[in-house]
Amino acid sequence: MKIAIVGAGYVGLVTGACLADFGHEITCVDSDASRVAALQRGEIPIYEPGLKELVASNEAAGRLVFSGDLAVAADAEVVFLAVGTPSRRGDGHADLTHVHAAARALAQHLSGFTVVAIKSTVPVGTGDAVAAIIAEANPAADFVVVSNPEFLREGAAIEDFKRPDRVVVGLEDERGRAPMAEVYRPLYLNQAPILFTGRRSAELTKYASNAFLAMKVTFINEMADLCEAAGGNVQDVARGLGLDKRIGSKFLNAGPGYGGSCFPKDTQALVRIGEEFGAPMRLVETTVAINEARRGAMADKIIAACDGSVAGKTIAMLGLTFKPNTDDMREAPSIAIIGALQAAGAEIVAHDPEGMAAAQGLLPDVAMAAGPYEAAAGADALVLMTEWNAFRSLDLARLKASMRGDVIVDLRNIYRHEEMERHGFRYDSVGRPVAG
Ligand code: NAD
Repeated sequence: MKIAIVGAGYVGLVTGACLADFGHEITCVDSDASRVAALQRGEIPIYEPGLKELVASNEAAGRLVFSGDLAVAADAEVVFLAVGTPSRRGDGHADLTHVHAAARALAQHLSGFTVVAIKSTVPVGTGDAVAAIIAEANPAADFVVVSNPEFLREGAAIEDFKRPDRVVVGLEDERGRAPMAEVYRPLYLNQAPILFTGRRSAELTKYASNAFLAMKVTFINEMADLCEAAGGNVQDVARGLGLDKRIGSKFLNAGPGYGGSCFPKDTQALVRIGEEFGAPMRLVETTVAINEARRGAMADKIIAACDGSVAGKTIAMLGLTFKPNTDDMREAPSIAIIGALQAAGAEIVAHDPEGMAAAQGLLPDVAMAAGPYEAAAGADALVLMTEWNAFRSLDLARLKASMRGDVIVDLRNIYRHEEMERHGFRYDSVGRPVAG
């Protein structure tokens, strides 16, 4: 099939590379000329494991090309919109500027019957708006708009795209069904269910999924606080909880709160959508508030571990991205936590395997170190912020010898208390008793 993808970011690029790998003919279009030029030179503008190789092999096979010109969408049977939908400044609504602009620009290039599939995460009713924009801009266009939300996770995006738990396609016009089934036909071999729903249900499903996962993370974070206060171990509680098949064990790792390019903006947007329709999303509203407060609470935890003050102290931070295996720094909890520590007088030296380039712009006063031991050298305390594999089996003796202080705050519960104590550290983690 001939397919065009508008927006070559984390989602568009992965979608393009994976669909090309399925054998489709893909053109990825982006309005950012420097991004297109980089892609045409074979450079991948984001870090996503396996993506560079997948793009290269499909480009070499002639199934994947990049362009800055939407005119290439003219002969596509399906055009995916995978542009960004960030939070609108000030009110938390999803900003649909890019979606609307892409729809308007696309309209004039449509020829023959085309399925326009919205992959971006968009509020319920956006499919109707996109259909209206295209119809107005090009009354002769023969098209249908379907909702096809994306559920991939950064860091495991290719695997998620190729082996999804489900594919959701929301349509109002049956003419969208066969082409979308054809796009995803290779997935039937993996027995991935493809769920056809109404367009509004599909749009809501994406927000429901992200909000539910954000609530799950936030629930275990509050349980961690209760464990600390009452003397429990949140990892044991999470295990006992997660073995219940009705609940499941994923997303029950206590930590510094959720972040990233999706959960914060999508939970906020769902709250606004609920308000708009007079159907308040109170659980999600509370989740947002708890998660925001958690960043300050984590800074307080670090300050408390440093005997109540970080003024004039150097803190080594291992990990900056909101999770491992990505360079995405959008809404990473590290940003607010570092800000609070700096406001309390701390100097921060950080290392992140992939996120430092993106982080430097957001955190200009943070010194970036070449590796974990370089970051730790001379530090009074060390904070484990992101559970990159590179930080999972650090040489604790080497760390201890190079640090000035003896405090480690492990916000990802990677290490064991006994092990840390044996190496002479004062160790704190999240929701686990200090001893045992
Ligand atoms: P991104 O910012 O990485 O990429 C968006 C791309 O769209 C950019 O390269 C930008 O230049 C391009 N663009 C913007 N306007 C354009 C236009 N008019 N024409 C052509 N290109 C245009 O964003 P992302 O992380 O890939 O997210 C895209 C959408 O997918 C969002 O709605 C997001 O919520 C959703 N989503 C993201 C993830 C994720 O893990 N990142 C997962 C699921 C869903």
